[in-house]
Amino acid sequence: MSQPHRYDAIVIGSGPNGLAAAITLAQAGRSVLVLEANDTLGGGARSAELTLPGFLHDVCSAVHPLAVGSPFFRTLPLEQYGLEWIHPPAPLAHPFDDGTAAVLERSVDATCETLGVDAPAYRKLMNPLVADWHKLETALLAPLKLPRYPFTLARFGWRAVRSAKGLAESVFKGERARALFAGLAAHSMLPLEQAATAAFGLVLGITGHSVGWAFPRGGAQKITDALVAYLRSLGGAVMNNTRVESLDELPQARVILCDLTPRGLLRLAGDRLPPLYRRRLERYRYGAGAFKIDWALDAPIPWSAKECLRAGTVHLGGTLSEIAAAERAPYQGEHSEKPFVLLAQPSLFDTTRTPMGKHTVWAYCHVPNSSTFDMTERIENQIERFAPGFRDQILARSVMPPAELERRNANLVGGDINGGAQDIRQLFLRPTLRLYTTPAKGLYICSSSTPPGGGVHGMCGYHAALSSLRDS
Ligand SMILES: Cc1cc2nc3c(=O)[nH]c(=O)nc-3n(C[C@H](O)[C@H](O)[C@H](O)COP(=O)(O)OP(=O)(O)OC[C@H]3O[C@@H](n4cnc5c(N)ncnc54)[C@H](O)[C@@H]3O)c2cc1C
Repeated sequence: MSQPHRYDAIVIGSGPNGLAAAITLAQAGRSVLVLEANDTLGGGARSAELTLPGFLHDVCSAVHPLAVGSPFFRTLPLEQYGLEWIHPPAPLAHPFDDGTAAVLERSVDATCETLGVDAPAYRKLMNPLVADWHKLETALLAPLKLPRYPFTLARFGWRAVRSAKGLAESVFKGERARALFAGLAAHSMLPLEQAATAAFGLVLGITGHSVGWAFPRGGAQKITDALVAYLRSLGGAVMNNTRVESLDELPQARVILCDLTPRGLLRLAGDRLPPLYRRRLERYRYGAGAFKIDWALDAPIPWSAKECLRAGTVHLGGTLSEIAAAERAPYQGEHSEKPFVLLAQPSLFDTTRTPMGKHTVWAYCHVPNSSTFDMTERIENQIERFAPGFRDQILARSVMPPAELERRNANLVGGDINGGAQDIRQLFLRPTLRLYTTPAKGLYICSSSTPPGGGVHGMCGYHAALSSLRDS
């Protein structure tokens, strides 16, 4: 590469965290260059016609509670750059075999109406946490530090450190609320018996009520387009089709921020890192993989529970014990016969995604890291289970096993979509105790392999950039 310029900062990777880091630095008056390997910018926030012409699919992320709720993104004028959030009438539906569904509504009370015997218990659990979300978010979407609201955090924390299964079974008596909570917690991609998996269930439930599970009109790419346009308005530069193979090939820069996982950092900068730190990065653990399918459909999914048509996201897995078994399987190197399927149906609420009357559907399930097993039939069986006749509506499908996800984005190691396992050992202290900094002067890591971890929220990039600004 032969740019003559010298930059204050170079960011490698244009995922939401790379762009958040670049914006934070540009806002502080630094000259910034972002280098992206792919032809399209955005990493986990991209959209493309994956099936048929005119059908726009989200390549990775589809549903964005953490982007809407991001304390950093909220400060940016992204609406001025074309970002428009669509809130489906209900964030989430969880259908059962009897043709009914539990529904996570924006209102806690309306949600309770779908939970039968556990309505009072759900209200008691959620109401105080939802009321406190604005205090909790600053502590949870940031690296560990002394909390500003210790009592609020303690009220959340003593439940959050439990296993999702333990919390659901002790708080709820009925199948409906237990299953709803299990589906929320299964976003952790961990066995639901593990400590701190309740935290994922609580955070996703709270955000459903407090900020909503929205998605951008026109697809996840619109988040990236708005971030890039705003960055350029601040003077930042962005180059696509530029895979960085070694730090030595970069133009001179005071600081380099890597929107990479430890494996990528080692590949690019291993020779600049001392052996002890290198070994720590080598020991960093990746989690289960995702097996993803996108469909072009002739009509909406024919759900037995009609409430599912009001929800942007649908969780398919049945009861708590079924979901817990499905989520244990990847950790035992197995593929569940009845996987837990996370499904989004954005075109029901966003007509820009498809030709008139047609639909797109996005779904994935969890598989062992680097799995090569084809889960297509098992995923479609789970949809048919709750929507008989689904297969008759399929016009085309795009299938992405872990290797294909990783081919499209080197950060998705073995199909791990969170930049590393998010178990209790790697949840707050990732990728090492140094968090965003490395022993090499001016070299930082800013991806979801740093706190607060996976999801489109930009907070890893924001905190990494602050860390570099503090050092300089
Ligand atoms: C299938 C799937 C579904 C998901 N669903 C959701 C969801 O619904 N909601 C949600 O909030 N999150 C979701 N996520 C997770 C979310 O996408 C990620 O947590 C988020 O994108 C992480 O952002 P990042 O900036 O850390 O990394 P990434 O978004 O992964 O970006 C990293 C970028 O770096 C680039 N890169 C890598 N190596 C190099 C190199 N050597 N040189 C130059 N560039 C390089 C990559 O091409 C990529 O563009 C999903 C992810 C996947 C894969």
